[in-house]
Amino acid sequence: MKAWVIENITDLSKNPEPLKLIELPDPIPESDEIIIKVHACGICHTEIDEIEGRAIPSFFPIIPGHQIAGEVVEIGKRVEKFKIGDKAGAGWIYSACGKCELCKKGLENLCSEFKATGKDAHGGYAEYFKIKETFAFHLPETFSYEETAPLFCAGAIGYRSLMLAGPENGQNIGLIGFGASAHLVLKMIRYLFPDIKIFVFSRTPKEREFALNLGAFWAGDIGEEPPEKLHSAIDTTPVWRPPLTTLKFLLPAGRLIINAIRKEEVDKNELLNLDYPKDLWLEKEIKSVANVTRKDIEEFLKLAEKIPIKPEIEVYPFKKANQALKDIKNRKIKGAKVLKIAN
Ligand SMILES: [Zn+2]
Ligand SMILES: [Zn+2]
Repeated sequence: MKAWVIENITDLSKNPEPLKLIELPDPIPESDEIIIKVHACGICHTEIDEIEGRAIPSFFPIIPGHQIAGEVVEIGKRVEKFKIGDKAGAGWIYSACGKCELCKKGLENLCSEFKATGKDAHGGYAEYFKIKETFAFHLPETFSYEETAPLFCAGAIGYRSLMLAGPENGQNIGLIGFGASAHLVLKMIRYLFPDIKIFVFSRTPKEREFALNLGAFWAGDIGEEPPEKLHSAIDTTPVWRPPLTTLKFLLPAGRLIINAIRKEEVDKNELLNLDYPKDLWLEKEIKSVANVTRKDIEEFLKLAEKIPIKPEIEVYPFKKANQALKDIKNRKIKGAKVLKIAN
């Protein structure tokens, strides 16, 4: 099969062709695995982090890509959940041990043996992809492959961050930063909790206006005082200051969820500059979001079909993978970028 691979860590700004197109043997399923003919694979900023060494893959050469939508073409002897011809897909979670304390508690996203698709196992920038049937998902019926693929990453992780924030109808929730993943979270809140007031903090007037159009109750600048205090807030910014400036707006027992794999380097003292009585006293909580569980993906795919949440997409032909990565790096972002691999 044809596959794009990362051969080694490299600087994307100096190397315009960081992925190499190579020929690999077609994958063969173990008894509990399925083979998916990949129709579409979403393109994520994480691929750039892998190429540039901020999220180092477990082996090279590796096929990246963790937002996979396609069709089952082969199944192992013991496979029960899928049959040949089913639409199937996979997200960031490739496997977890299933036996440790965390896995048993439903926190397989935190398992020390957590394997990420396209980072610790071959991903979806290829004609075929294999995975254990128990870590693959049936796809929504009413969406195309291209529309489905991006749901596996930003949407599913956004859903997890919302569940961790634990909102209830009648409460106030803050969204700090208003990029693609926050739009999705806003739509989920409006559908699941119609009586929640949403407060959006964003630096750009355009995003604030967009948030209000999508049904936010209030939109202001980062650090601007909202008209009411918040029960919870979800941060999706790449920097430290925005979530830290929001802590003082939380109610007692308020919860701040940080949905970011990493924060850009800052003066470490900034964290220590928290004003304990204003920022943390009265049982305020700060929590990060790491990876996703199968339950998150499963529930989110169903929710996305019901609302419906169809991501705006920009489709690239298979051979343009390097161009797509360059466009993400240069922030030429119109919609979620998707690699079209088969028809
Ligand atoms: Zn991703
Ligand atoms: Zn485990």
